[in-house]
Amino acid sequence: MADTRTRSASEAGVSRETTRGESPGEWTPIAEEAARAAQVLHPDRYSMPRPSTRRVLTVANQKGGVGKTTSTVNIAAALALHGVQVLVVDLDPQGNASTALDVEHRSGTLSVYELLLGELTLRQTVARSSASPNLWCVPATIDLAGAEIELVSMVAREQRLKQALTAEALDDLGVDYVLIDCPPSLGLLTVNALVAAEEVLIPIQCEYYALEGLGQLLSNIDLVRRHLNRGLHVSTILLTMYDGRTKLADQVTTEVRQHFGETVLRTVIPRSVKVSEAPGFGKTVLGYDPGSRGAMSYVDAAREIAEAGARVGRQ
Ligand code: ADP
Ligand code: MG
Repeated sequence: MADTRTRSASEAGVSRETTRGESPGEWTPIAEEAARAAQVLHPDRYSMPRPSTRRVLTVANQKGGVGKTTSTVNIAAALALHGVQVLVVDLDPQGNASTALDVEHRSGTLSVYELLLGELTLRQTVARSSASPNLWCVPATIDLAGAEIELVSMVAREQRLKQALTAEALDDLGVDYVLIDCPPSLGLLTVNALVAAEEVLIPIQCEYYALEGLGQLLSNIDLVRRHLNRGLHVSTILLTMYDGRTKLADQVTTEVRQHFGETVLRTVIPRSVKVSEAPGFGKTVLGYDPGSRGAMSYVDAAREIAEAGARVGRQ
């Protein structure tokens, strides 16, 4: 966690000539927290860079409850609040991302289901989130639960989402980022998400069995890359639900960093009650409690993602 705080403070434009301990009067943990809080409370002053070309990220992990939806909506909101145009595609029939983004998703609502079937366009299914004027969402309704089976007999069944998210449709919406929230399975919906994206963001929970099933996810990504989407790669790994009180959380963090190196964001999302409470109010944690550790961590994670995107563009 220490490196997260250090980096965020420097990112917030605070000089860090002195290190902690050398001159406690100039640099204290409180000053550090204040610098982080300023980013969340005054996002207009700390805008994040837009990527030179649009980035489409699929948030995948076939394990349930690892923080896919939470990470999707909070990273999306953090980018959007800092001036970046973002589209979230809710691809889980549970519709949890739609709930957190305060977007209607009762059965019968025009949704990603009709988008996948090719019955409606992106414009017809997209709704603006109350979390930010820069944030759009294609909601998922329970109707999507049947899509996995309906898709099986369809032509180009793995390409349906990609065909719907055309460059023209995304240009028309003006989005810089597309984040696709996957269901907890490796079925056709997730395959559609992997075909529609160039990048995969894998959230990993800092808990027991965190790495279980990861091999299967990676080999599926590899299969999609070889057969359906040559550009696909795992660009980002995010450690979530970190509990500093447990040794296990540190062990998982170390193991994941050893294995995946630079792909792992320096920011780690702490386990925080505020993060889990927010969706119950139809909010992201940034809207629910902007000064909370959870909100600040998601802003840090989003900034890392945005800066990586801006760097890629410059190369
Ligand atoms: P997934 O989409 O992978 O199934 P979720 O994002 O829905 O996972 O998270 C699973 C549960 O854990 C949810 O109840 C969510 O509110 C909670 N949760 C996610 N991240 C955190 C966190 N950082 N701290 C506390 N609870 C969290
Ligand atoms: Mg989910």
